[in-house]
Order: sequence, then structure tokens, then C-alpha cells
Amino acid sequence: MSHVKYPLVIANWKMNPVTAQEAKTIFSGIKTASKKFLKTKVVVAPPALYISELKKLTTKSAIVLGAQNTHFDVKGAYTGEHSIAQLVDAGVAYVIIGHSERRLMGESDEIVGRKVAATIKGKLTPVVCVGEKTRDTQGNFYSLIEQQIKAAVGEIQKSRLKDVVIAYEPIWAIGTGATATVADVMEMQLFIKKILTKLFDRNTARNVRIIYGGSVNADNAKELFASGGVQGFLVGGASLKPVDFGKIIQAVN
Ligand code: PEP
Repeated sequence: MSHVKYPLVIANWKMNPVTAQEAKTIFSGIKTASKKFLKTKVVVAPPALYISELKKLTTKSAIVLGAQNTHFDVKGAYTGEHSIAQLVDAGVAYVIIGHSERRLMGESDEIVGRKVAATIKGKLTPVVCVGEKTRDTQGNFYSLIEQQIKAAVGEIQKSRLKDVVIAYEPIWAIGTGATATVADVMEMQLFIKKILTKLFDRNTARNVRIIYGGSVNADNAKELFASGGVQGFLVGGASLKPVDFGKIIQAVN
């Protein structure tokens, strides 16, 4: 049993859309589409450039903003980066960390761990992405997930773990249309809880929100949520389509 109370749905817009005007249109669409589903926490993580414009649209709305990345240092000579302090100032509440697309750009487990620590220190919620590239029949991919989780949260204070979200995102399911099965998701969230129990304890593990990401859409969201044992979704492609995204929110609400 999980102790997590409300479902969480996060939109990861990646490097989309091309203009601020389009971003505002999509955001307003999501605002309308999610209006009735107040039991669900909705987070939109746009490209960082659009955060301050979209922040203005969050008034009279329960939607909160997320970032797709952060640096682990507070300030300094890091060309092209932004810090947690800057995200706090911009009004962001959630930070996606260690997305597979960033790991592919060279983000190591160690860097992910430092970013998670910085995010918690800045009192924002880290959304830690873990996931295997492929699955083998012997189940060796489980040890990779274990290693990713240990590196990301193994060193944080037990009392802060409840502020962490873990997103299970199998790389083979991201943007491919090949969603993990309900059984895959159920098994993996149990495995993640087992790792957290080993690292901390059972009660601490139960309070961590585990969400799923990988080709979630308006059609599969309901079953994945009802039977996958997860408390929400991280959504890429479908999050740019307000009507579809609204249906995903409705499915978990
Ligand atoms: C993602 O980018 O985190 C993601 C899950 O993408 P998609 O929903 O498009 O598979």
C-alpha cells in the first residue's frame, strides 16, 4: 500500500514548442482541460525560456511549473546552465532530473545525485527519472535501476525522501508508442519500493511517489493507473496536446 495521497501528472514539453506564443496557447489549453480535475496535481515543465511567461498564466489555476533540468551549483561560471536558486526565483516547484535524453548527453549517475541533493536543499521537488535502455530475459536491467536509484537518492536524509518523486521511464517506451505493460509497471514500482526499503526503511519507501512515463496517452492512461500501482505519469508527446493531456488527467483523477 502506498501512502501517497493525490495523483501527479507531469508534462515534459522537451524542446517544444518553437515560440512563446504557442507555449501560451498550449498552456491555456491545459488549464481549461484540467480545470475540473482538482484531485490531481498537474505540473507543466516547459523549456526554461518560457517559464516566466507561463508563470503569469498560472493565476487562478492549480497548475504548477516544473523545469526539465538544473545545475547542482547555486551560481557560477556554467555557461548555458540555470540553478535551483534561479528556478525558485522564477516560481518553479518541480525539477525533472536525469531524464534519459539528458543522460544520453552525458549526465552521469553521480551528477544526477548532486542535482537531486541541490533540488532538495532548495526545497523544490525532484522528479528523478530512471529506466533501462532494453530488457534482457535474465532481468539484468533490474540492477541498473537499483544503481540509478542508489546514486540519485541513496545519500539524502531519510526525512526528505517523502519530497522525492521517482519516474520509472523505460527508454524503449519513450516516444516510441511501445508502452510498458501494466505488469511491467507493477513489477518495477514494487522493485523500486524494495530498493528504497533496503536503503531506508519500509515506511519511508511507502511515502515515495512513483510515477510512470513512456508513451502514456489518452487511451492507455486509465488501465496503467488503475492496475500499474503508480501514483501518476510523466508525459512527453501527449502533453503538447491539451485535449489528450486532459484525458490523461481525467484518467487518474
Ligand atoms: C518523456 O519524455 O518523459 C516521455 C515519457 O515521453 P513520451 O510520453 O513521448 O513517451
